[in-house]
Amino acid sequence: MMEIILNEAVDVGRSVLKDGSVATYIPELAKADPSALAVAYCGLDGRVCSAGDTGTKVTVQSISKIASLGLALEIRGEEALFSRVGAEPSADPFNSIMRLEMRAPHRPQNPLINSGAILILSLLPFNDSSERLDAVLETMRRMSGNEGLRVNEAVAASEKETSDRNRSLGYFLRSVGAMEGDVENILDSYFRQCAIECVVEDLAVMGATLADGGVNPLTGRRIFTERNALILRALMMTCGLYDGSGDFAVRVGFPSKSGVGGGIMGSVAGRAGVAVAGPALDERGNSIGGIRVLEELSKTLSLRVL
Ligand code: GLU
Repeated sequence: MMEIILNEAVDVGRSVLKDGSVATYIPELAKADPSALAVAYCGLDGRVCSAGDTGTKVTVQSISKIASLGLALEIRGEEALFSRVGAEPSADPFNSIMRLEMRAPHRPQNPLINSGAILILSLLPFNDSSERLDAVLETMRRMSGNEGLRVNEAVAASEKETSDRNRSLGYFLRSVGAMEGDVENILDSYFRQCAIECVVEDLAVMGATLADGGVNPLTGRRIFTERNALILRALMMTCGLYDGSGDFAVRVGFPSKSGVGGGIMGSVAGRAGVAVAGPALDERGNSIGGIRVLEELSKTLSLRVL
């Protein structure tokens, strides 16, 4: 039954793929297949069901910001983090520098835009970039229950080569005293966490872990406290699709986080993780077919939390 529903949703999603295009600002992402589209559902009983082009691999990109934020919340605590970064939605694109400069004390608006995510990494207690990356990767492995998750080195290198904007954000944050540490070292772990590769089922289990109050329903392991899982879902609801978050809340209506690789990880508290992978993006950098699939499933399965 669930398989039929998922298959139908993918068919609906395919109809809008022609209006999207793959990300090209990171050259390696331009190689993705714009016609690929897959969906997965993971209930809190740990059962995973998927449909569409389920072999499609995507790099998590901004979805990784949930893992690094979750890890930072666990290590540093809510108060320490939110004294350094805001928790308010931003109407600007994900890599915008404008608002950061305009308002003192120059705090990133939220941890899910690039400036916020880079700052969060600087607050983790690691000086070595590979130790920092390993901690984020391990968090993502525990969230997904997939020990095989790893970095796509070609994408990581491509990100690093074309990273002028992210480098600007990092150096700007340090120049105004908002961030401390070695910017290049922090950025290295940022590029590599964005380049962690997964399939749609991994994203669905990650969403289910957040939906289950921080416990991975596959492994039974607690990854985040209930409070931290709630904070992550709340930020996904308000900031998870960048400047498309309001529109997404109307159309889909449950907490989700997108990435320019084409993945979207959704989380319906007490019910399920729902995820899509479809590299063709809309003008805001969100999977165009993926949003259409989630909109359809939200209706069919009554997943809306609003
Ligand atoms: N690695 C991407 C960047 O920093 C992530 C952005 C995204 O997924 O929205 O530009």
